[in-house]
Amino acid sequence: MSSEQELVDILRRTVSDEAILRSNQVAALDPGWDARNTGARVAVRPGSADEVSAVLSACNDQGIQVVTHGGRTGLAGGAASTPGQIIMLTDGLQGGIDIDPIDRVAVVSTSVTQQQLQEAAAEHGLSLGINTASRGSATIGGMISTNAGGMEAFRHGMMRQRLLGIEAVLANGSIISDLTRVPKANEGYDLKQLFCGAEGTLGVVTLAVIKLEIAEPESNTTLLAIPGAASALRVMRAVQQSGGLLLCELMWHGYATSVANATGLTNVLAFCEDASAYLVVESSLSEEALLALIEPFFESGDVIDAVMAKSKSESAAIWRIREDSQAAYQQLNNPASFDISIPLRELDSYMHGLQQRLEKMPGKIKLHALAHLGDGNIHLSMGRETPWNEKDKTALCMAVEQGVKDMGGAVSAEHGIGLDKLETFNRNANTCSLTAMRAIKTALDPNGILNPGKVLPN
Ligand SMILES: Cc1cc2nc3c(=O)[nH]c(=O)nc-3n(C[C@H](O)[C@H](O)[C@H](O)COP(=O)(O)OP(=O)(O)OC[C@H]3O[C@@H](n4cnc5c(N)ncnc54)[C@H](O)[C@@H]3O)c2cc1C
Repeated sequence: MSSEQELVDILRRTVSDEAILRSNQVAALDPGWDARNTGARVAVRPGSADEVSAVLSACNDQGIQVVTHGGRTGLAGGAASTPGQIIMLTDGLQGGIDIDPIDRVAVVSTSVTQQQLQEAAAEHGLSLGINTASRGSATIGGMISTNAGGMEAFRHGMMRQRLLGIEAVLANGSIISDLTRVPKANEGYDLKQLFCGAEGTLGVVTLAVIKLEIAEPESNTTLLAIPGAASALRVMRAVQQSGGLLLCELMWHGYATSVANATGLTNVLAFCEDASAYLVVESSLSEEALLALIEPFFESGDVIDAVMAKSKSESAAIWRIREDSQAAYQQLNNPASFDISIPLRELDSYMHGLQQRLEKMPGKIKLHALAHLGDGNIHLSMGRETPWNEKDKTALCMAVEQGVKDMGGAVSAEHGIGLDKLETFNRNANTCSLTAMRAIKTALDPNGILNPGKVLPN
């Protein structure tokens, strides 16, 4: 393992001293959502793709491993680093945001945050088409690299559907530049898609061309108390068919009450505090139109009660409960998190089956669950009083995974594989797919310097 000074000496041949961070400066960085992120002793902050290229070329020659960092909001351990590695910080990359309202595209440096791009797009009456609660910190580079999804994915797709062009630096320092701005481009293998979800294992993404959407019309927020996922799906489908559905998020009782208690927002759920689940519907329909649409669902028992936000602050309070997943997570002892996708027709039976499997496991397991309902993406957090031993943790993972692939679902929906889902991925992936993925990794990074040990299980 190279010493801190050796790493600094290698970097000095490529960038200025000010762009190099030593151990005391790395220790002062905010590790973000994963304490393992800042395990390395040295970091580098290049300002351009050429500097990224010089750094990677030097590291490749010396066999030094590089872990790229965006906003450090990743939830799968993809940005975790260790001593002997170099952290590649992307927050110094120049380039900003250049929006073309005619073609509805943005050419952006990957250092730009989701929120910065959302705000810049809004000035042109446009929208990014992706919306996650991590918007203030998550970068475009990190979102491409994890193929981020979020709450609008059921209408506009994930990050890979937003990506028209890319500039990325490979392990040997060569720069792939494909700044295509048009949606239709069939020009051989679609290399940019390789970087979506690659979690920094195939290259460092420095620039991106992103497709934008027309901004949403005025909308209103409704919170519905419902008996469960099957009812939620029926209500969602009706609002969707009206053409007015913008967002549709499902929270099961344990999650919603936990956040409400932790954030002092119990009044939001007071209209029906014992419901099994709550559905947050953001729609462009008028209050009268939405009420007329859900009226039959009161009669069928799919909706127990509903409240419509009368002001921006009431809407914000409802959305705070949906988005402050950290508040719920912190209420659990020894929490373990999962991010899976289930085909909609199987969602209700999957949740019932999971509940039964959890009840049979040792220790009383508390479950917090919420879903980006439109695409069957469920976020599950589970805790119990006693810490998880290896055997119980594996049993828990397998209880969550059971049947998911057979149904046509995914064991990692939008957070990626990183370090944390390697075993899960290994258990569930097709062997030939893994072989093909390894061949791609070896072709683009033969010395294995880019974020080694992430995404691909041994
Ligand atoms: C409160 C909260 C809510 C969230 N909600 C959602 C959600 O709804 N949907 C969703 O999909 N995710 C969500 N996430 C997860 C997270 O925000 C996304 O994974 C996001 O895309 C990560 O971006 P980042 O810039 O923080 O990347 P980082 O955490 O810094 O890095 C993530 C991975 O990408 C790699 N990487 C980063 N930048 C680059 C680059 N320029 N080139 C190459 N590799 C790079 C890293 O090496 C790492 O493997 C949420 C996270 C939080 C904390």
